Amino acid sequence: DYKSRVTVVGSGNWGSVAAKLIASNTLKLNSFHDEVRMWVFEETLQCGEKLTDVINRTNENVKYLPGIKLGKNVIADPDLENAVKDANMLVFVTPHQFMEGICKRLVGKVRGDAEAISLIKGMEVKMEGPCMISTLISENLGINCSVLMGANIANEIAVEKFSEATVGYRDKREIAEQWVRLFSTPYFVVTPVQDVEGVELCGTLKNVVAIAAGFVDGLDMGNNTKAAIMRIGLREMIAFSKLLFSSVRDSTFFESCGVADVITTCLGGRNRKVADAFAKNGGKRSFDELEAEMLQGQKLQGVSTAREVYEVLSHRGWLELFPLFATVHEICVGRLPPSAIVEHSERKPKLP
Ligand code: NAD
Ligand code: 13P
Repeated sequence: DYKSRVTVVGSGNWGSVAAKLIASNTLKLNSFHDEVRMWVFEETLQCGEKLTDVINRTNENVKYLPGIKLGKNVIADPDLENAVKDANMLVFVTPHQFMEGICKRLVGKVRGDAEAISLIKGMEVKMEGPCMISTLISENLGINCSVLMGANIANEIAVEKFSEATVGYRDKREIAEQWVRLFSTPYFVVTPVQDVEGVELCGTLKNVVAIAAGFVDGLDMGNNTKAAIMRIGLREMIAFSKLLFSSVRDSTFFESCGVADVITTCLGGRNRKVADAFAKNGGKRSFDELEAEMLQGQKLQGVSTAREVYEVLSHRGWLELFPLFATVHEICVGRLPPSAIVEHSERKPKLP
């Protein structure tokens, strides 16, 4: 069978939009089977119906992307193993905290010739050190894994507003081009870059910067302060990425996955929004509580990423080099007040 089969693992806000984008292309392109399987973490809705049944009946993810038709060729499947078994192109897009469990369940269950791509912004911290999600996938499943990151607020792409994205690939250019074909539309322009770690770290670390920007908004500190925090944040993103992987390229930070994603997430993202509310409440209500109340089941990545980054910084003795990253975590856990974001981040870091 020369045609590729695509499965999307995940069906949240971005997962559903990714399935819609892909499904519009598999219908048009001869080299792909029309059907796109989408694994859904099953839940029962308030009406008593199962989410997968509703998606397959209405062609809409009524919980995570209401009001948007996914395309009739998107088939929701609650059975993870069944959803992946025939696919040779696997798109991973769940909140990052669920990926270890998902990978364990998928060991030995995917095709040997499968290629993966991760749209997940986050990382895991193990005893041995940080582990990117693409590495988690690659090592557990024994397959190659590329990444797609960018300035991509899902609800805007859902209504087909123009945006750009970056595919990060390791060495096989033709694989990157296949992913670019699968995702590109006139309103979604994708550029390949040979720098998986750089692209993935951009997507991961910008969520910490977005939490900082949300604090600034919540404290009404104004646009100049927010721009300063974004600049300092971007500088820490670059320095941290290069300390972890010397192969990371400067040019990656000027792609959509870098500066553009910092900007859009600090203006319109969920991490910004919840951090704004956290600061307005003077840190008296926890992120978990605010997330549950404000996001209706959608998940923040920035708070856990700040903790993961903090673990790496303290373990390696780098805390003083990254005052913004460190301060975001200290504020999230209540050790510092939200106002510390400016006082602490502006300290001149002793960068190498
Ligand atoms: P989301 O924030 O909408 O999260 C909800 C999803 O998590 C639902 O599909 C839910 O079923 C699932 N879930 C809940 N509990 C689970 C469990 N125990 N096991 C497995 N799944 C469970 O998800 P999203 O917006 O699709 O985000 C996925 C990734 O994409 C994240 O890393 C995010 O940073 C990234 N991303 C999101 C956007 C966006 O605008 N939403 C844009 C770009 C990248
Ligand atoms: P939030 O998770 O903060 O909404 O960011 C979405 C995103 O990654 C935009 O590119």
